[in-house]
Amino acid sequence: MARRRRDRSPSSIKLTQPDRSGPSEKTLLDLAQQQGLFDQARQREDALKGVTTKAHDASAEEAESLPPIVDRIMETILWTISLATLHFTLDVLVQNQYAHDISWPKITSRTGQAFLVFGFLMYTLHGHSSNPTILPGLPSRYQAHLRQAIFFLIYARQRSSRPHVGHVPYGPIINQCYLPGRVALTFDDGPSALTPHVLDLLDQYHARATFFVNGDNFARGHIDDPATLWPDIVRRMHSAGHQIGSHTWSHADLSLVDSEERYWQMTRLEKALINILGFYPSYLRPPFASCDWSCQADMAELGYHVLNFDVDTKDYENDSPAAVRTSIDRFASAISGAPASSSYIVLSHDVYGQTTDTLLAFMLEMIDKEGFMAVTVGECLGDPVQNWYRMP
Ligand SMILES: [Zn+2]
Repeated sequence: MARRRRDRSPSSIKLTQPDRSGPSEKTLLDLAQQQGLFDQARQREDALKGVTTKAHDASAEEAESLPPIVDRIMETILWTISLATLHFTLDVLVQNQYAHDISWPKITSRTGQAFLVFGFLMYTLHGHSSNPTILPGLPSRYQAHLRQAIFFLIYARQRSSRPHVGHVPYGPIINQCYLPGRVALTFDDGPSALTPHVLDLLDQYHARATFFVNGDNFARGHIDDPATLWPDIVRRMHSAGHQIGSHTWSHADLSLVDSEERYWQMTRLEKALINILGFYPSYLRPPFASCDWSCQADMAELGYHVLNFDVDTKDYENDSPAAVRTSIDRFASAISGAPASSSYIVLSHDVYGQTTDTLLAFMLEMIDKEGFMAVTVGECLGDPVQNWYRMP
């Protein structure tokens, strides 16, 4: 039960005045004064100081302040160790949160790199009495501002990733549509000689789909080589309203390669698609549906949505007239929900004859019959078309 403070009116409470009378007897300070202890201490201090200044004039000054260069190195080491430790701690926390396994060698090597970068920045840019001038000729009152500006520019350069627009996350794996009533058919590994047939069928059903293309897969030549069929097929995909996404240059497993290779796999295909279309995609289907935490971090940096799927037709295992029935059944049993409350992202490939002849026709027929709409992945995520691509 709460105390009812209002029962007593403020005027009924008696306030006692603070006691300011002070000690009535002698204090320790008074006793010390009486015995001359303070004077004795002062005399001893003066005597000591006199001896030091007379005998070791030079060394006393040295002991008081370190030479500027030593001071600078010590301060750099202190800051660098602090920041590298912070880097290490955050790295472990992030890996613990998102990684499948914590890789200590990778954490250690990243901490080493961070140590070198912090060390360099601290040594060159942190204000020190040994280097008050960073740009000779500039008035000294601007030197500190210049130093801050350089630090900020280097930091900003380090952090500059491609802009993230819209509500669809960049980096983490997405495997479901956001909007109900949609089926996003996706075709990986193309374009191939079978792709035009897929495009014909999609036209016939007024359906939209997404093609996650490779730059050079199955040794069929570079996607942007004008001597091949591919540039025209890619342009046709785009002009028919389908979405084009990246499936890497040569179908690399992005969890098994390092950041440098990932960067190359993505940007090599970007260049080729720029040659064909003038722009490049912001959606990725990772080959083998494989993109670990480190790959996801790189894709966030490169500005990619990482799109997996929730329906796998396994058409790559069933490319024969007898076996394709398995893929058809897998699709039919997966599309089981009502359009008002369910939606699907479906994996298939425009490189298998059974997919492009039999499976696709079945899928389009069933999507129509069940009352779903066949749309691109961007559409099923509610992402406007201008966010699907980036200009070079
Ligand atoms: Zn693939």
